[in-house]
Amino acid sequence: MTIPFNRPYLVGRELDNIAKAHANGHLSGDGAFTRSCHAWLEQRTGTRKALLTHSCTAALEMAAILLDLQPGDEVIMPSFTFVSTANAFVLRGAIPVFVDIRPDTLNIDESLIEQAITPGTRAICVVHYAGVACEMDTIMAIAAKHGLKVIEDAAQGIFSTYKGRALGSIGNLAALSFHETKNVISGEGGALLVNDPALVERAEIIREKGTNRSKFFRGQVDKYTWVDIGSSYLPSELIAAFLAAQFEAADAITARRLAIWDRYHDWAAPLESGGLLRRPTVPVDCIHNAHMYYLLLGDLAGRTRFIEAMKASGIGVVFHYIPLHSSPAGQRYGRTHGVLHHTDATSDRLVRLPLWVGLEDHQDHVMQVAQDILGQSPEP
Ligand SMILES: *Cc1c(COP(=O)(O)O)cnc(C)c1O
Repeated sequence: MTIPFNRPYLVGRELDNIAKAHANGHLSGDGAFTRSCHAWLEQRTGTRKALLTHSCTAALEMAAILLDLQPGDEVIMPSFTFVSTANAFVLRGAIPVFVDIRPDTLNIDESLIEQAITPGTRAICVVHYAGVACEMDTIMAIAAKHGLKVIEDAAQGIFSTYKGRALGSIGNLAALSFHETKNVISGEGGALLVNDPALVERAEIIREKGTNRSKFFRGQVDKYTWVDIGSSYLPSELIAAFLAAQFEAADAITARRLAIWDRYHDWAAPLESGGLLRRPTVPVDCIHNAHMYYLLLGDLAGRTRFIEAMKASGIGVVFHYIPLHSSPAGQRYGRTHGVLHHTDATSDRLVRLPLWVGLEDHQDHVMQVAQDILGQSPEP
């Protein structure tokens, strides 16, 4: 039996919806399914304006354009993240300034942000790792004090909350992902959440190739024209139709993922007490969405042994980010603030376990095999 690390879940109505989009005679972007996805996201997150995009990456690129970043401007962010967090800003000529993460949540260490601010700093881009919120009150206060914008990379954060507020609804702008590895999916897909009302109109323009096409379709202008820079960031109705079906089942998906997460967490408790590993930390004022279940093992050698042995048993487990500050492009385009000790250590020690809807039937097996491997002492 092989158990993959991820298996994209179909709720059932995706293909019906795609057939409906075709019957509607509207396959390009911003048709009825896209509008219903926007309304759903706005209602569920409380954001001012939600706009579907091709990916979270595309939404982050839109955010970087919206902030009018100039070459040499600095954006503070963690190094322990996906490349798109940094790439979106580097494409504008901006410089990612990497700061260390907290050893508990693995999110940006808010206590290091203020020291990293220079006269060139324009924004802070936070990443809610594993769908667990960053310390947003502190981060928003620092941003307000220094006149900085905050972008939330909430790729992993749909349905998670911080002090009762949806992730993605707190910063000036936020990006969600519906990539097939995320909780709610459309293959490739994402959304920009615009919380700052002053940025809504320009966000629509940037998404429509720099034209005021959205205003034209609402009858607010009598012809549409090129008014700003932009690109094609809107997905087809086929993607929105698929996503709309997933949205209908999103609560059920989250509930099933949470049940799997909770079982892993209970199972790993005695292993943690026994000093074999460390479990994820979720602060009391954060509700997470069971995006990921990870373990922090003792060291790189132990993690490598674990991954190899799990693979040999047919179970897909994977490590996560190579820190951006140690990657070739990160070194060329970014700089670090201080020593990124927790980033490096986490990158070496973290392993993610399979977590997908349908894993319920195999989870006992995964835990048994993992426990057997973890219980074996390393070869001398
Ligand atoms: C998945 C992910 C992205 C990229 O999402 P895409 O939709 O594939 O572009 C960006 N940032 C983080 C933190 C992610 O986990």
